[in-house]
Amino acid sequence: MKRLRSPVLMYHHVEPAPFDPTPHFAGSYVSRAEFSSHLDWLADRNFSVLSLADAIARNDRGEVSGGRSVVLTFDDGCKCFLEHAVPELERRHMSATVFVVSSQVGDHNVWDVARGERIEALLTTGELRDVASRGFEIGSHSRSHADLLGIDAAGLGREVSGSKKELETLLDRTVQTFCYPYARFNGATAAAVRDAGYLAAVSAYGMPGVSTRNRFALPRAVVQPGSSLLEFRLQTTGWYGLWRRLPHLGVLSQLRKAKGTR
Ligand SMILES: [Zn+2]
Repeated sequence: MKRLRSPVLMYHHVEPAPFDPTPHFAGSYVSRAEFSSHLDWLADRNFSVLSLADAIARNDRGEVSGGRSVVLTFDDGCKCFLEHAVPELERRHMSATVFVVSSQVGDHNVWDVARGERIEALLTTGELRDVASRGFEIGSHSRSHADLLGIDAAGLGREVSGSKKELETLLDRTVQTFCYPYARFNGATAAAVRDAGYLAAVSAYGMPGVSTRNRFALPRAVVQPGSSLLEFRLQTTGWYGLWRRLPHLGVLSQLRKAKGTR
């Protein structure tokens, strides 16, 4: 399979700082100002900022040369995507993929609240249709945000195939990509995603088995608040995976420890 040459970045929440109330998983919240600085950096260097499905299509047509394209993804389908990320992206003619939990459309982040996170309102069907009509890709983030390694075959079918059908019915358009909850997957979950008719699925760097050559186990770089421009720059290159595997790189290693990438 052709290697996906466009690096894939992972965001969750984009909101104006200070965040109020303080989030439990603070690493998932990037301020709108910091997000804007990322987009400015990409715009200044003429990056093509793409959705995942579009990047794969361009990659397979040989239109992506590497080093000048990046995929932005946003997990969970929070309202903040429409309120704060979309305006900044549209202003710069950039696209992205948002991964939605199909049974929670228009509701809230019950899976995170159960772990102590504050309540986040999620995009409604109407808002998702609006986002899609504006050129952003809607992907599936499962049906209930379940850990796919902890469920039986019937549950896996509901989460993977069921969420695709549910979202396609809601949105009246094809859902092409999947995002593993908690980035957790194995051979069986990847096979279920492929058999359900998806084009690709994403996990994250650091998870076993990720590869830019495996469309159902694509790595993503986690963009965390307060990360250095050097780290962000590395995340937008094909070198990031290699860098993560080389912890002995003195200065860079210390920098990475100081900022934290996971
Ligand atoms: Zn998630």
